[in-house]
Amino acid sequence: MTDYVFAPRPAASLPLAGLEARFPVHRVFCVGRNYEAHAKEMGNEVDRSAPFYFMKSAHHIALAAGDQPIAANTSSYHYEIELVMALGQGGRNIAEAEALEAVYAYGVGLDMTRRDLQAAAKAKGRPWDMAKNVESSGLVSVLQPADGGFDPNAGEIGLKQNDKLVQCADLSDQVWRPAEIIADLSRYYCLEPGDLIFTGTPAGVGAVAAGDCLEGWIDGLARFEIRMTESL
Ligand code: MN
Repeated sequence: MTDYVFAPRPAASLPLAGLEARFPVHRVFCVGRNYEAHAKEMGNEVDRSAPFYFMKSAHHIALAAGDQPIAANTSSYHYEIELVMALGQGGRNIAEAEALEAVYAYGVGLDMTRRDLQAAAKAKGRPWDMAKNVESSGLVSVLQPADGGFDPNAGEIGLKQNDKLVQCADLSDQVWRPAEIIADLSRYYCLEPGDLIFTGTPAGVGAVAAGDCLEGWIDGLARFEIRMTESL
């Protein structure tokens, strides 16, 4: 037994449908600009030579349910609905053809973003951490084990804000398909069980206000509903 000067924080984790045991979250990778229409709405072009990534801390992941606080120090806290992959296997240089075998479960998530801080960071060529790696900013539905036959390359992905449809696209619109993302990331990191990958958001992102109800889904996979509350 290792002796610590104070108790270490318990592992970050998410529930899995139909299982008592939880999924322990290790690292959280997020893909940027994976839907052309979203890249365009942000004033960017998709870079088809390679995907790009940023990260969130595992402890910034929370179950997408109930009340969720708006982040402090932003006047533009944006929703981004995304397919989330939860890896049960890892490795380096994973072949694209075998990449989906590494996925233990899928979920539908929100990559919540301080859009004002992200715009300021982009303008100054600074990193995105303060915009993206935000407490409670990685909200994920109950994870669905991959043995359910879900196909991450097709199916409607959508989000309603107070019953108004604000994001709606198809997973087939992804620039980089889930298997390509895993294969590419594994060339830079030795992927490990517990890693989460947020795969990017379609068009229609926007700001939330306290009291807003957000309902997100991916057809054939999962659905969640949350209510935004004042920042802490
Ligand atoms: Mn995103």
